[in-house]
Amino acid sequence: MSEALTLLRLLAELDHTLHHISGRLADLDQEEAALHARLREADEAMARRREAHRKLRQTALERTAEADATDAKIREYQHKLDHEIISYKEMEFLREQVKILRARLDQLSEEALRLMDAVEEDARKLAEEEQHHRERRAQLEAEIQALGKKRADLDREKGELEAKRGEVLGRLPPFVRQKYDQLRLRFPNPVVYVDGQACSGCHLRLSEATMLKLREGREVVTCENCSRFLLLRW
Ligand SMILES: [Zn+2]
Repeated sequence: MSEALTLLRLLAELDHTLHHISGRLADLDQEEAALHARLREADEAMARRREAHRKLRQTALERTAEADATDAKIREYQHKLDHEIISYKEMEFLREQVKILRARLDQLSEEALRLMDAVEEDARKLAEEEQHHRERRAQLEAEIQALGKKRADLDREKGELEAKRGEVLGRLPPFVRQKYDQLRLRFPNPVVYVDGQACSGCHLRLSEATMLKLREGREVVTCENCSRFLLLRW
């Protein structure tokens, strides 16, 4: 077999492997994007959860403050009733207010207690969820890191193959290289194997004359239809 044919065969194999690697790299891109999306979703869900807890705590504190304010108001009115000289009308009014405020204070105190219990319970749940979230994050980040390593390996392999490919191209006779470059603009696979008696690039049947030249293996043969370089299988 002529050297040009050997080099073309090598080139075809290199291109096939490079094509395969490009496909795997594209798959890795997708996987990595999906993992980043899951990480983002988990973070967002956790942020919403923390906000819900913060709001619950805020409501409980507001209710407690309201109860304290009501209590202060009752004391103030009671002090007036006990120690100040006031009109009968005002006394009646203050007594009525104290009655109303006491009922309100009972209600507020009960609500504040119930809310404080709920906050405590929710804080326990939140701590568990935070722990689960940290574990989930660590797991996703480990997966992303593993993908990064795979990518680095593939990039290195791709670089080596491309260097080898450049070297093979450089060793091809100029007219073959020129034709190869032209074919590359049209096809991802300028060098193809013969499948039965058909070009595996365009799938059309090859003439007997072309098959004969291929079997002799002395010169570079191209498909009479699509012009791709042809090779017989090993
Ligand atoms: Zn063809």
